Amino acid sequence: MDRIYYLDSNATTPLDPQVREAMAPYLAERFANPSAIYKFAQGVRGEVEAARENVAQLINADPEEVIFTSGGTEADNTAVKGVAFALRDKGRHLITSQIEHHAVLSACQYLEGFGFENTLLPVDKYGIVDLEALKKAIRRDTVLITIMHANNEIGTIEPIEAIVQIAHEHGISVHTDAVQTVGKLSIDVKGLGIDLLSLSGHKIHGPKGIGALYVRKGVKLDPLLHGGHHERNRRAGTENVPGIIGLGKAASVARAELSQNEKRIRALRDMLEKGILERIPEVYVNGHPEKRLFNTLNCCLKGIEGESILLNLDFEGICASSGSACTSGSLDPSHVLLAIDLPHEVVHGSLRLSLNKFNTEEDVDKVLEVLPTITERLRGMSPLWGKEGAKTKHKSAD
Ligand SMILES: *Cc1c(COP(=O)(O)O)cnc(C)c1O
Repeated sequence: MDRIYYLDSNATTPLDPQVREAMAPYLAERFANPSAIYKFAQGVRGEVEAARENVAQLINADPEEVIFTSGGTEADNTAVKGVAFALRDKGRHLITSQIEHHAVLSACQYLEGFGFENTLLPVDKYGIVDLEALKKAIRRDTVLITIMHANNEIGTIEPIEAIVQIAHEHGISVHTDAVQTVGKLSIDVKGLGIDLLSLSGHKIHGPKGIGALYVRKGVKLDPLLHGGHHERNRRAGTENVPGIIGLGKAASVARAELSQNEKRIRALRDMLEKGILERIPEVYVNGHPEKRLFNTLNCCLKGIEGESILLNLDFEGICASSGSACTSGSLDPSHVLLAIDLPHEVVHGSLRLSLNKFNTEEDVDKVLEVLPTITERLRGMSPLWGKEGAKTKHKSAD
C-alpha cells in the first residue's frame, strides 16, 4: 500500500504499539471470564481493576466511579437516558447544545417519546455555548444538563466549569462528553465538579469498542443494559477484557505523555494552519482562536465543496474529513457548522484536519504541498468562484 498521511484523528487514532502489546495476552492465553472464582480468573479480574484505576487516574476519579462501556456512544447514551429515567418522576426537561455529538443529540431526542422535553442551547460564532441562554433555560423540572467538553468538528472547548457552577446552584446534574479532551487536556473531574463524563478508547490510541462513563458517587442512574451484576449493577455483560486492558494502558500512556504530546502536536497544527493561510487566499478558520483543541484545524475554503477537496486529498493519500455530508446522500452541511452561523457560500467548503502524536512534519508538508494546487484547480471549475467571489470580504469569521 502507498504511504498514507493520516489527518483524521478526531474520527479515530491508530492503536499505540504499547497498547497492542498489553492487550495481546488477553486475546490469547489470558481468556478467563473475570467473574469466575478460580485463581486463573481472579488474576484477570485484578488486571481489569488495575485498568479501571488507570482510567480513573487520568481524570482524577475514584475507580468505583468508572463504568466500562462499549465506547463513547454508549457512555453518552447511558448518561443521558440513565439519569433521565432515574429522575423521571422528578422532572422531564433536559438541556443540551446545538453542537453536541449525535450520540447525545439522538439520545435526548429519543427521550421525547417518553414525555421529555429538550432545550438545545445556541452557540456563538466560535461555537461557545451561551451561558445566559443556559440560565434562562433552567426550569424546575430540569433533570440534566449535557454539554460536550470540546467539539469534535471545530475543536472549540466549552466553559464546563462555569456550566457546572450554574447547574449546581439549581441542584441539577451535569454530564459532559469529553471524548475529544480526555488524553489531550488535563482533566480533573473533582476540580470541575462534573457529575458524569464520557470517554472513548479509540480516540486516545486505544482499541475501538471500549469506553467509559464516569459517574460521581451519589448520582442516580438507571442502567441501559440489564442482565448480570457486572460493573456494580450499572452495565450488565461479560467485560470486554482485551478492550479494558487496552483502554487502561492507553490511559496510563496518555497521562505520562500529556504535556509532551501537546507541545509537539500543537506545533504541527500551528505550522499547518499558518502554512495554509499563507498559501491559499480566502480561507477561514472555524472554532475559537484560543479555546480550541490543539490538534484540530477546521477551515472553510471559499468557493469549493468539502467533498471534492476530500476526494482530491484522498488521491494523494491524505485522510481528512469535511463537515458537509455528501456521502450520506445529501449536501447538507453539518449541524455544527450551521450552528456557528457560517455564511452559506463558505459552509460547504469545510475541511477538518486533526492530528495525533504519530504525525510528523512530513504529513504537514504533504498537505501544504498539494492543497494549494487542489484548491486552485477546484476553484477554477467552480461556479461558486466568480471573479467577484475572490474579492468579496468574508464578514463573520474574522
Ligand atoms: C467519537 C466521538 C464519540 C463516539 O465515541 P465512540 O467510541 O466512537 O462510540 C462521541 N462523542 C464525541 C465528541 C466523539 O468525538
